[in-house]
Amino acid sequence: MGRGTNLSEATKAEILRLSCEGKSGAEIGRTLGISRGTVSAFLTRYGRQNIRSCEYCGKAIKDSEAVFCPYCGKKILTDRDRLEAHLAEIRKATSEFPATQRDVIFKAIAEVSKIAKKMEGGK
Ligand SMILES: [Zn+2]
Repeated sequence: MGRGTNLSEATKAEILRLSCEGKSGAEIGRTLGISRGTVSAFLTRYGRQNIRSCEYCGKAIKDSEAVFCPYCGKKILTDRDRLEAHLAEIRKATSEFPATQRDVIFKAIAEVSKIAKKMEGGK
């Protein structure tokens, strides 16, 4: 069994659902008829991508679809929300700059984020 790579979308959804209910990897494996190793490999990989922490109270939020923090009730910002907010800030701050200067700034930002993405991917 390839460690989590051959799981169907339905199985993945079930693993996440059971995991959110607080079931252990062994219990989830037994319920779904797959090995505990497969379950934990999937959760580790999935968790790395999807577990976020609340900006306000700092708690880990495991429900990838949650919109509000289950602990403090504040809206959870996605990376996209944050990105949009930063870009809006930069646009506002540079709105009186000449267009050529703004171009330089936005090009530099695009380069920085490309490099950051590459660095993160190579971890
Ligand atoms: Zn919170």
